[in-house]
Amino acid sequence: MTAQIIDGKAFAATVREKVAAHVTRLKDDHGITPGLAVVLVGEDPASQVYVRNKGKQTVEVGMTSFEHKLPAETSEADLLALIDQLNADPAVHGILVQLPLPGHLDSDLVINSIDPSKDVDGFHISNVGLLGTGQKSMVPCTPLGCLMMLRDHHGSLSGLNAVVIGRSNIVGKPMAQLLLGDSCTVTIAHSRTKDIEEVCRRADILVAAVGRPEMVTGDWIKPGATVIDVGINRVPAPEKGEGKTRLVGDVAFASASEVAGAITPVPGGVGPMTIACLLANTVTAACRANGLPEPEGLTA
Ligand code: NAP
Repeated sequence: MTAQIIDGKAFAATVREKVAAHVTRLKDDHGITPGLAVVLVGEDPASQVYVRNKGKQTVEVGMTSFEHKLPAETSEADLLALIDQLNADPAVHGILVQLPLPGHLDSDLVINSIDPSKDVDGFHISNVGLLGTGQKSMVPCTPLGCLMMLRDHHGSLSGLNAVVIGRSNIVGKPMAQLLLGDSCTVTIAHSRTKDIEEVCRRADILVAAVGRPEMVTGDWIKPGATVIDVGINRVPAPEKGEGKTRLVGDVAFASASEVAGAITPVPGGVGPMTIACLLANTVTAACRANGLPEPEGLTA
């Protein structure tokens, strides 16, 4: 079998188009321009790239981008004061604090100081609790992107066996909650799971969010299963030249795509969906803040 490729790049473009259409409607019909504030503390090069991309795509869909770049030595009090200010600003509908924060800052404290209705990353404990109890919440962007692709591919997910490898708060746990919400039978596997290959072979839907290059090979996969590869791992690529690297997922694409029914590539799968879902969450937050109906197809 050769798996169908789930093209996250193309899918993300359709999500951004939907977001842009909603933004136009919000502006034209209600005079509202959704605004996303991104806060970056320090100069981590990867975070700088993410923040730049987020800002660019925010503007491209017609929203306002507010970027706050603070020095690495920023005090917790100053950061919390900025978040208070953004919480109170009616032009800001979404707030994202880029993680990881420098070591002297308490990430949990900082994230939980964001107004939950503006917490477009979905990491605030209120949103985690709302998602866990099946209530309307802000949903973390990466798992939301995975869910959108799965719904698009399968239609209904009801009754399917889903295995999520990884139990992080950002990906694994919310992914499992979302799949449960769509009536999958969900197993969460992690570093202590016994016979993990066997557990994975039972999955109609296998989501890998581990951070280990090409850990999941074709023999872990049930024939015809849908495989969502969240992993982003940089590995040496001597074939491209000395010191060069390339990106690979947590799934060994070549062997997995021989067995799976459908699979997301890396790059070009889950990655592009994450920022698209951040934009989707911001437009959702703007609608909710103004008592307007939520955009269809952009929420969990
Ligand atoms: P994380 O916080 O490091 O969590 C990794 C999880 O994998 C943990 O639950 C860990 O289990 C589990 N694990 C580690 N080794 C394992 C093994 N040998 N067998 C089974 N499970 C194992 O990572 P994360 O933040 O969830 O990210 C996971 C991957 O997704 C990374 O590659 C990251 O770069 C990528 N990512 C991509 C996006 C995107 O936009 N595409 C967004 C976020 C993350 P324990 O809990 O038992 O230690």
